[in-house]
Amino acid sequence: MQVRLLNSFLLNYFIISYGCQMNEYDSARLAAFLEFQGAIPAINAEKADMILVNTCSVRAKAEESAIARIRDLKPLKERNKSLKIGVLGCMAKNRGESLFKDLPFLDFVLGPKDYGELPAAKLANNYSAFIAIQSGCNMKCSYCIVPYVRGMEQYREVDSVLKEIEEAVANGVSEVTLLGQTVNGYRYKGLSFASLLRRVADVKGIERIRFMSPHPKHYSGELLEILLCEPKIAPHVHLPAQSGSNSILKKMKRQYTRENYLSIVEALRSSNSLYGITTDIICGYPGETEEEFEETLSLLREAKFDSAFTFAYSPREGTPSALEKEFLSEKQKKARLQKIIDLQHSITLERAKLMIGQSEKILLEKLSRKNSDEWVGKTGNFKRVVVKAQPNFREGMYVDCVIEGVKGHTLRGVASQF
Ligand code: SF4
Repeated sequence: MQVRLLNSFLLNYFIISYGCQMNEYDSARLAAFLEFQGAIPAINAEKADMILVNTCSVRAKAEESAIARIRDLKPLKERNKSLKIGVLGCMAKNRGESLFKDLPFLDFVLGPKDYGELPAAKLANNYSAFIAIQSGCNMKCSYCIVPYVRGMEQYREVDSVLKEIEEAVANGVSEVTLLGQTVNGYRYKGLSFASLLRRVADVKGIERIRFMSPHPKHYSGELLEILLCEPKIAPHVHLPAQSGSNSILKKMKRQYTRENYLSIVEALRSSNSLYGITTDIICGYPGETEEEFEETLSLLREAKFDSAFTFAYSPREGTPSALEKEFLSEKQKKARLQKIIDLQHSITLERAKLMIGQSEKILLEKLSRKNSDEWVGKTGNFKRVVVKAQPNFREGMYVDCVIEGVKGHTLRGVASQF
């Protein structure tokens, strides 16, 4: 394992992470590995002996920001000749050796597969852990670089997943988020994702289970049933829609229709109208007509997402869609994006208001940065709630509260039992 070569001079490390939760998870595993080797986290890049930049290639913009950040590190290297700077992650795999040409002061470049054997257990914090159960993706959506940089889907052994969760629980964790590029496509020796969820729910000490990111194609009846019946599975899914138009979904090779997608939303909300559903939307895909764009707006209205990550399409070199001719100008794409943002903003607010009067169990995450008399927690349906601090409040504690109002998109609650 190549990182081990660095051990002899390593004292303080600093990791800069870009992109998805899978990347965050990899960064956490790297940190665990380095600390196992005796390294200490540096408080900032200036104080580090080694800086690792864990990159993302999904959007051209993510690569550009990572490259700009790496360039900013050059003066540190000039001041401290023994400082080592390495680039990891999808961009490292995607650009490989050519990165040395653009950034000659780099010491090493490692793709995601080069550190696949790192020890797995690392907590996102003291009470919540990310657990990777699947890597890679078999879908080949036309605009996405992930399958080319992360390879085909691979699934972790069930026993190793459960062991990691049990170890995390022994360290105080009560919430786990199972991670994978198409996490609900997980299968291992005949065991489905739904069965894995059942096994995770059986782990003593686990209170809340989340997963990220599911693909609409992999919502079986078995999965929907356990999502709605198992109380430990948090009532929230992040369900990337990308577009509301069937013709665009077809061009994107998403492998579902608007109707399939909405049937999942309906199944989840029919038994719990407050079920949290968040999504990703891309507008301005090559050739997207005004009518097709309107269908995305109507999907937002129909699905009533609790929130959405929204993007104007930008071509990603190395993907099939980058070869398609674009008809919309950047200005037109931005105007469409703004319409989506404005509409979603009002829907998010509408959904938040529905929570008023509800009794919710929130998991306390941290003291509010704005007011040290307040704590911030999360509901099962993934909404942020601010409550007045109590002397016994601590990170990772579950507190019952009643939602009394909404400020911005944040809920205000009154703790009733703690
Ligand atoms: S499902 Fe599509 S968008 Fe998601 S990682 Fe796979 S190819 Fe990319």
